Amino acid sequence: MPSGTIDFCSNDYLGLRAHPLVRSAMIDAASRGAIGAGASHLVSGHDPEHDLLERALADFTGRERAMVFSTGYMANLGVITALVERDDLILQDRLNHASLIDAALLARTREFKRYPHNDAEAAACALRHFRKEHPKAGALIATDGVFSMDGDIAPVAALAKLAQAESAWFVVDDAHGLGVVGAEGRGVCEQQHLDQKAVPILIGTFGKALGTFGAFVAGESALIEWLIQSARTYIYTTALPPPIAAATRRALQLVDRERWRREKLHELIQLFRDGAQRRGIVVMPSMTAIQPVVCGSSAMALQASAYLRDHGFHVAAIRPPTVPEGSARLRITLNAHHQADEVERLLAALEGAISHALKTETST
Ligand SMILES: *Cc1c(COP(=O)(O)O)cnc(C)c1O
Repeated sequence: MPSGTIDFCSNDYLGLRAHPLVRSAMIDAASRGAIGAGASHLVSGHDPEHDLLERALADFTGRERAMVFSTGYMANLGVITALVERDDLILQDRLNHASLIDAALLARTREFKRYPHNDAEAAACALRHFRKEHPKAGALIATDGVFSMDGDIAPVAALAKLAQAESAWFVVDDAHGLGVVGAEGRGVCEQQHLDQKAVPILIGTFGKALGTFGAFVAGESALIEWLIQSARTYIYTTALPPPIAAATRRALQLVDRERWRREKLHELIQLFRDGAQRRGIVVMPSMTAIQPVVCGSSAMALQASAYLRDHGFHVAAIRPPTVPEGSARLRITLNAHHQADEVERLLAALEGAISHALKTETST
């Protein structure tokens, strides 16, 4: 990204990625000890820094216990493949993150069904139908908490109720909700008042609002113990570097101590949405930091993105297969370091970008 360009597409929603205290936590840990974990968790790589972070994560999420993974991608692969058996059903939202989809493909269960986006009713139909035919088989429902390319929030409470009624596993990947959604930044579980019983498997990542790298799973002690013994992407990989764990623990504290970050982010979200409406820019129904503007064709999205770049804004064009055919978009994200006047200028440029892209499209 050229210097001087304002980044409106990172996932650093709270602006913690370069926070002096996050950096010093990492540097302190690095000067006290090793950079690399040296081995996988079960061999000798599990560091006291991992324990401290895991305890802080359990506290933060209101869960009994948490475990860290090296990435969110690996957390999803490891958790889902550890929980299902070949005869089971996996049910997922059609717009779930690629890592959840890949996890289901790797699990190779008898059935893998994707229900229409945010349609808990359709999920219920599919699950009941499966149960009628296979009364003894297990089932697992998985959803993003906040959808990464749309910014909307899943009907987690309705899905939790369904999972409980049907004795199915329920996994929520709240990568984009943690730190952002809920008055305390605990994510969609806080927003929808869902405890560990309602959402027994909560996954989060460190590379988004926490500004570092890695991921975690939180839930009941017995479940976490099972995952430690069976999740292959936990067992057969090098543990997260301990200084990263230290930096992440500091970032977690800052989610609480610097509430203004979340409050400012939500002010900017409102400002963006009001401004877009005033200018006739169509935005999606999202109340999170992800505010996509759908352009339609890939060519249109690329045109609009190039126009914004020429006006000093970095907004990547997201195209199929990452999003459905015909819904290529500018995935605009806001963060606590943006200023109100920058958002206003982005909106003005966006208006120009859209009419420019439309003009080029009709002239070709
Ligand atoms: C980013 C993301 C992941 C992957 O996390 P990494 O730590 O970057 O591998 C998983 N799930 C969702 C919903 C994400 O947005």
